[in-house]
Amino acid sequence: MIPAKFDYHKATSVKEAIALSQELGEEAKYMSGGHSLLPMMKLRFATPEHIIDISKIGGLSYIKEEGNLLKIGAMTTQTDLEHSDLLISSYPIFGDAVWLTADPSVRNFGTIGGNIAHGDAANDQPAVMLALRATIVAEGADGEKSIPIDEFFHGFYMTALEPGDILTEIQIPKAKKNSGGAYYKMERKVGDYATAGVAVHIELDDAGVCQEIGIGLTNVSAVPMRLDRGEEVLRGQKVTDELIEQVGQIASEDCEPESDLRGSEAYKRSIVNTITKRMINKALERARN
Ligand SMILES: Cc1cc2nc3c(=O)[nH]c(=O)nc-3n(C[C@H](O)[C@H](O)[C@H](O)COP(=O)(O)OP(=O)(O)OC[C@H]3O[C@@H](n4cnc5c(N)ncnc54)[C@H](O)[C@@H]3O)c2cc1C
Repeated sequence: MIPAKFDYHKATSVKEAIALSQELGEEAKYMSGGHSLLPMMKLRFATPEHIIDISKIGGLSYIKEEGNLLKIGAMTTQTDLEHSDLLISSYPIFGDAVWLTADPSVRNFGTIGGNIAHGDAANDQPAVMLALRATIVAEGADGEKSIPIDEFFHGFYMTALEPGDILTEIQIPKAKKNSGGAYYKMERKVGDYATAGVAVHIELDDAGVCQEIGIGLTNVSAVPMRLDRGEEVLRGQKVTDELIEQVGQIASEDCEPESDLRGSEAYKRSIVNTITKRMINKALERARN
């Protein structure tokens, strides 16, 4: 399939991209790696008249700890996430997710910013962001804004980004002692989008009591979904098998999957239950080591 005709523009700075976006209006779209946008254009689900290529903007590809935050530049590719020593040693949830995302050629181009900005509940990074309680930093015509992840996803392919806003950075609370995270998704075959996925991040105190927990679900609702009720069960508690069982059950009840080519609603509820329990256990194991 061939996309509809469009004009191509290249921006080399955030300011230039925002100015171009203002000049070209609502028919303009940013493109980072292009691996979500271009397939949609080829299928004619998206027909922007102007593409503003922001992939060559310098200074937006980094992974670093600064103060009490982990900061990831929006143009960081999924391959960069996969090979980062810092993420491998202190934030293994990223490796879990990236390994299950598409294939290496997609990961070489697909950026973390694009994966989140796309607002697709089937993408893997949004659930990870929910579990890690990320803050999304964006720049627009009115300057910089910080958006808590719980306010970011508004609906089917809709986010809190306003026309012309560029997602520039993801900020995540720095990994604490006795904390761990894990992600897994069930897929029909290697490289497929999730039938269902679960991200868990847990923080324990020295006595093993759960101080904080984040649980994010992939592709079982119109927007990436936080499992609030499940988090409440574990927060402030010593985590037992019985409580984990309870959270798995809640996950299967609270998710909102639809039957489709990837499976029936009942099947998806069942695997959400299983993956949730497994990911809590894996996150706990990492937090204790
Ligand atoms: C065959 C295939 C399989 C895939 N499988 C998976 C999978 O299993 N899991 C998964 O998570 N993803 C999957 N993807 C998607 C892939 O990971 C994408 O590359 C990624 O989600 C989007 O990143 P991108 O840089 O390519 O974004 P683009 O395609 O460039 O952009 C996507 C959207 O975000 C907007 N955008 C991009 N960057 C910014 C920014 N910095 N600020 C504001 N708006 C921005 C664009 O305007 C566009 O609307 C797959 C893709 C392909 C082609």
